Order: sequence, then C-alpha cells, then structure tokens
Amino acid sequence: MKKEFVVIGLGRFGGSIVRELVEQGMEVMAIDKFEDKVDEYSTIATHAVVADSTDEAALRSLGIRNFDHVIVAIGDDIQASILTTLMLKEIGVKRITVKAQNDYHEKVLERIGADKVVHPERDMGKRIAHNIVSNNVLDYLELSDEHSIVEIVANNLLIGNSIIELDIRAKYGINIVAIKRGDDIIVSPQANDVIRKDDILIVIGADNDINRFEKRVM
Ligand code: ADP
Repeated sequence: MKKEFVVIGLGRFGGSIVRELVEQGMEVMAIDKFEDKVDEYSTIATHAVVADSTDEAALRSLGIRNFDHVIVAIGDDIQASILTTLMLKEIGVKRITVKAQNDYHEKVLERIGADKVVHPERDMGKRIAHNIVSNNVLDYLELSDEHSIVEIVANNLLIGNSIIELDIRAKYGINIVAIKRGDDIIVSPQANDVIRKDDILIVIGADNDINRFEKRVM
C-alpha cells in the first residue's frame, strides 16, 4: 500500500522532501501558508493546499490525522514550528518528523514528543567539514554521538594491501564494511581482499578510532 505523507512548509528543505517522496511513489499532501509556494508544488504533490499550520481547525479539516507521517519543515519561524508540532501531537498524528533550526529548538521538539528531529544544516556542515579536513573523506554519516560511517578514498598507504595485512580492526578498532570499486560494491569484504587504486572504503567505528585512523593513514 502507498504511504501517505504531509509536508508542512515548502521552503528548500520541505520542497526537496516533497519531490523525493513523490519520486519514491508516495502520496504527498504539501502545505504552505503562501499561495505562490503552493502553486509551485501543485503539479508535483498529490495535493497542494494553502493553510496556516498553526490554525488547529485548518489542520483538522484537512484530515491530517489519517496520514501515516507528517513532516514539519517550517524554517525560521521557530514558534510556528513548535506550535504546529504540539497540535499535531494533540490531534493524534502517528509519526511526526520536524526540522530543527538550532539546539534549543531541537530540545523543545523532543520534549513535546516529535518522533524524529532532523538538523540538516548542522549535519551537512559536519559532513562537509570532514571532507574539507581530509580530501580523502568523501562522506560522513553520524550513527550516534560517538559512532560514524565514513567513506574514504584508498591512498598509497592502503593500496596493494589485503585487509588482513592492514589489520585495521586490531590496530584501530574499526571495520571496513564495504568497498566501492567502480560500479561494483563489495559488501563485507574478505580478509584476503586486496585494496586497489581508486577503491572507496566504507568504514564503521567509534569517532575516536576513526579519527586516529584518518590521522595516521590519510
Ligand atoms: P528552508 O530553509 O527550508 O528554505 P524556509 O524558512 O525558507 O525554510 O521555508 C519554510 C516554509 O514554511 C516557507 O515556505 C513558509 O511559508 C512556510 N511556513 C512558515 N510558517 C508556516 C505555517 N505556520 N504554516 C504553513 N507554512 C508555513
């Protein structure tokens, strides 16, 4: 069955969520308080509606309770974002994801019961910083406060060695979970797999251990 989503706030973030959900074959109701934003999404979303999400009656009249998941993508207006989330909770929406503008906003959203709080600018900033510090780090995904997955381009210290020869697990406590090689991806590589030029290693581990590895080897 197709899942049904509501996206509230059609700025750059909310807009890109709408496009991606539609691309994935989902039903999406797109809401913004400004008509020009709604017009922009009228041919993309399943429904596009002008409404102020801080107006509880308006939310209820849209039958918002019946949707599987509501994404609150209101940007600068933190008050509207908090109020909207509170009302969605009161109405009994099953799953609510909210974009936070700052750490304070994030804390409040968690307190009032948002199921998931996302912080795209901060997360993207971290990912880009890792890439700037080390050209070999292509991408960085935070798993928890202390653990990450990192994509690293193999350099001369790694190329030509097998995974067992490098002994990364024993030396650094981190694991190579996959190797991207051209269009192929080798999931769970074997101990005797040899790293080749242009390989991209996908490494998982504690941030401290990954940092040690990056400093020594990268
Ligand atoms: P971004 O950084 O993702 O571009 P913006 O702040 O530009 O974020 O966009 C947020 C969108 O949310 C705007 O289009 C704005 O009109 C909409 N918005 C803000 N408050 C409300 C509200 N109370 N109800 C509905 N839409 C809202």
